[in-house]
Formats: sequence, structure tokens, C-alpha cells
Amino acid sequence: MARTEGDTWDLANSVGATATMVAAARAAATRSPQPVVTDEYAEPLVRGVGLDVFTRLAGGELDSDELETAVGFPRMVDTFAARARFYDDYFAAAGKAGLRQVVIVASGLDSRGYRLAWPAGTTVYEVDQPEVIAFKAATLSQIGAAPTAELRTIGIDLRDDWPAALQAAGFDPATPTAWLAEGVLIGFLPPEAEVRLLDAITPLSAEGSRFAADFGTLNDGSPESQEQARRTTEGWRRHGLDLDIAGLTYPGQHTDVAAHLGGDGWDTTTFGLNDLFIAASLRELAEAERQGAANAISFVRAIKT
Ligand code: SAM
Repeated sequence: MARTEGDTWDLANSVGATATMVAAARAAATRSPQPVVTDEYAEPLVRGVGLDVFTRLAGGELDSDELETAVGFPRMVDTFAARARFYDDYFAAAGKAGLRQVVIVASGLDSRGYRLAWPAGTTVYEVDQPEVIAFKAATLSQIGAAPTAELRTIGIDLRDDWPAALQAAGFDPATPTAWLAEGVLIGFLPPEAEVRLLDAITPLSAEGSRFAADFGTLNDGSPESQEQARRTTEGWRRHGLDLDIAGLTYPGQHTDVAAHLGGDGWDTTTFGLNDLFIAASLRELAEAERQGAANAISFVRAIKT
């Protein structure tokens, strides 16, 4: 089913299920002998959602290679592990540079507010749909997890006036901020909402603020990408998950985030997925592994000058 204005979800359906998918990949990566990322909260969060295929992936009961082949996403677990590591490193550098205000938009099941060693005095704001925010807070509280920073959550749709809600929660635009938009500017918002989001972030970013995100077009609406989405949907269905992949994203070209920020006074650096694999000391992507939708995605780090 195609996306509609004002549609909502929890972590077991629609766009919310993609947050559970990436958390399951982080949980699987955490089990590896030399983990690229260690996210001890990913598995309990995924178990709490209760989607069988993701629970089995998170619990190490599923052969991830076989799953990746079935859904046509080679190196899926490595991809989300390398991505998480890239942003963990980004936050570590921001902390070293003295930034103490952090905003994670589309935070999903990201547990950085609980698992990273934030410098004293850091405030982390998380923005996502109300049901997503409520589920994560309740589940982590049940297992006795405590935030490692001052954590303030904002349950709101990113197509609505989230900047006002952020400021009502105490965000200070005069303080330099480290922003993160992980796994959302890849088609989950309509292009005009992507531009609105970036145009809202710039005036809220004091000099020295930083921004990191991945961006690109997973589904350009072409017959090839529709066919790829159909095969992926089939693959998930064979594993018991009913998720219409093509219907999750807004089709068509999405915003070149690096170019947009560059025009708004940010110094940007762009990376490809293989750069993240190299940085994480993972085996580089082979030619055949560079064909998937994930390779249409770029990664940007930016500093406001
Ligand atoms: N950043 C998290 C991570 O990487 O683990 C979650 C990524 S998940 C692929 C996409 C997230 O974007 C989901 O948590 C979803 O709820 C959030 N999202 C997408 N569109 C949104 C919207 N319009 N308003 C609020 N959140 C949204």
C-alpha cells in the first residue's frame, strides 16, 4: 500500500518495521566475534516487538547469509553495523570537539542515548513517531536500562512542526548541536518534507554544529526498482514477514542532502558504503555486492561554518 499523508505506525508495521529490521541487524552484528558495533539493547528491543524473523535474526537463530540472499540485500548485517559504527564515531568526534547538545531525528530503536559514553553535561533529544518513542522508553525501562546522557524524547511526525516541539522540550539553537538523521532521508519522507527538514535544521544550528545522515533514492519508481522491491517483498514473505517494500517509500528522486547543505553554509564530506566498510575493517564490498539498493545511498558529515 502506498504512503499517505499523516500515516502512522508502530514498530511492527510499515516504516516502523524497518527500524526493527536495522536493530535486528545490529543485534546480529553484536554477536560476531569481532563486532563492528556493540548494541546490547538491540536484541531485547527486537524481541519486544515480536516479529518472528527479526527476533530470530537478532537471537542468532537465522543464517544471515541465507536471509540476505533471500531478500536480495547482500551484506545487510554488515551494512547496518558499518553504518551504526560510522555514526558512533561521528558522535565521539563531536563530543571531543566539545558539543554537548545532540538531536537524533527518526531515532527508531537507536539506543545511543543508553549505550554511548556521552561527555558529562550532554543532552540527547530523540524525535520519532509517538508509538516508536513510547515503545523504546518502556522496553528499556523494563530491563533496567538507564540513559547515559540527559535524554529527552519527542513523539511527533517529522512531516509536522517538530522544530517547535524540539524547542518546547528545551533545545537551545544558540548552542552548537550534533544532528543525526540515520536511515530516513532515503525515501521515507516526501522530497518536500526532506527539504523542509534540512531548511529547519540550518537556522537551529549555531556555528560549529555538525550534521550526519545517509541519503539517496531506494526506489526511483523505475520498472527495475519496482521489480527489485517485489523480489525483496517476496523474500521477506517467505520468512513470514508481510511488508510491502515498494509501499514504504515515496517513489521518485530524493534530495541530495550534501548539495543542499553545501548551499546553506555547511562544509560537507560525502562517503560511499564501501568507505564505511573500510573504516570498520570489514571485508570490502565485492562487485556483485555493490548492485543492491543500499549502494544507491551516500553518507554525509557536515560542519556549520
Ligand atoms: N535511525 C534509526 C536506526 O537507524 O536504527 C531508525 C531508522 S528506521 C529505518 C526509519 C525511522 O524513521 C523509523 O524509526 C521511523 O519511525 C522514522 N520515521 C520515518 N518517517 C517518519 C516521520 N514522518 N515522522 C517520524 N519518524 C519517522
